[in-house]
Amino acid sequence: MNLKELWQTVLGEVELTISKANFITWFKNTKVHSKKDGLVTVSAPNGFTKEWLENKYNKLILKILRNNYPDIKEIKFIINSKEPLNINKIKKESTLKPIGDQLNFQEFTLNKETNLNPKYTFDNFIVGSFNELAQAAGMAITKHIGTLYNPLFIYGGVGLGKTHLLQAIGNTLNEKYSSKKVKYISSDKFGSELIDALSKKGMDAFKRKYHRIDALIIDDIQFIAGKEKTQEEFFHIFNNLYQKNKQIIISSDRPPQSISTLEERLRSRFQGGMIADVGFPDLETRMAILKSKAKEKKIKISEDVLNYIATHIQKNIRELEGALNRIIAFSQINNTIPDIKTTLKILPQIINSPKKITNYKNIFKIVSDFYDIKINDLIDRSRKKELVRPRQITMYLIRNELNSSYPFIGEKLGGRDHTTVMYACQKINKEIENNESLQHEINLIKERLYN
Ligand code: ADP
Ligand code: MG
Repeated sequence: MNLKELWQTVLGEVELTISKANFITWFKNTKVHSKKDGLVTVSAPNGFTKEWLENKYNKLILKILRNNYPDIKEIKFIINSKEPLNINKIKKESTLKPIGDQLNFQEFTLNKETNLNPKYTFDNFIVGSFNELAQAAGMAITKHIGTLYNPLFIYGGVGLGKTHLLQAIGNTLNEKYSSKKVKYISSDKFGSELIDALSKKGMDAFKRKYHRIDALIIDDIQFIAGKEKTQEEFFHIFNNLYQKNKQIIISSDRPPQSISTLEERLRSRFQGGMIADVGFPDLETRMAILKSKAKEKKIKISEDVLNYIATHIQKNIRELEGALNRIIAFSQINNTIPDIKTTLKILPQIINSPKKITNYKNIFKIVSDFYDIKINDLIDRSRKKELVRPRQITMYLIRNELNSSYPFIGEKLGGRDHTTVMYACQKINKEIENNESLQHEINLIKERLYN
């Protein structure tokens, strides 16, 4: 049996064991590269597939190989970067990196003290007429901390770059004034820290911590609406910092006057500073954003594909990025960058406005299929790591795709408590931010969900 035949045998057996979709996703373009001294080297088309094979299918492949060659002891996976990339019409672009290079997933680590993520900077923040006021105000603060615009209040819709801008301000301040204490926190998290402090009688420490800050950045302040105790404590911290000319930066999805259950005294504090809104980016800016993200991810996508995405997604930069990520996922799995025709096939569900439709049963099915586990494993109580993760992803998807309530999701997943669901959704949400590999995994699942 030569190497090719050997691999054919393995593939034949694997195909019988796992779902067709998984077989195609993970085993397409794999090969046996060599076999020597009990070590079989298998090549995968890209890093993501390689990792997946290592983690999920190593045992299965080894078992099948051993049935044929009992002396085989080990498998090693490598990336086959020699595989030529079919770059369709954009061959002339010489800057295209081999697909392997595109998979050096960038992992950024959150600074635990400041909660700042270094991936958000002014350099990669594209400015257009929709956000230039907010950006300019943010930039000005980095030059005149505490004295120019205080507080700075930035508001705008979902996915339009508020968090990115807040973080960029924080990162710049942190770099520029190394002795100053910068802290970024969402108002949600602020609220739960406060509850923790209250229940553990740690209020003094809580206050001391916040009173020491030189630049306090609070994201999504609308979430403290209606929470009286949180508003009260925040008001005191606000005043304390403000009186000392410490910088305060706040974001919200709406202007202060529209946050209905915000205490009047807080509202007037917010209105006393600089208020800047973020609107919707125009087509030109959407193109610039896509180009910058593609460049960041070292992938060269043709102008007409980018233009198609930018024309169809108008109101949310996160969705714009999501569409681009799908194109990248497709390229990595298929080793070819899609042209406009393929793009039309892989993006319709994001782009056609009658919203994508799925249901929780379908999510159960697709997730369990993707991870090669049983639907019952999702409902089950087992705490095995390989089941916990798919379960959390199921909860996350039901929440995000169907907007279901936490109690509903808990009930469908075997009667779990709604706080468990909430925790899972938050966990995945947070991880996605910094873990491109997980982003990629979830994109692949979504692709199956709507196809
Ligand atoms: P919001 O907080 O307003 O919901 P985010 O700041 O989380 O939005 O932005 C969503 C995504 O879009 C992030 O990945 C962010 O990096 C990206 N993004 C938003 N605005 C810009 C911009 N002006 N330039 C580049 N990327 C942006
Ligand atoms: Mg945000």
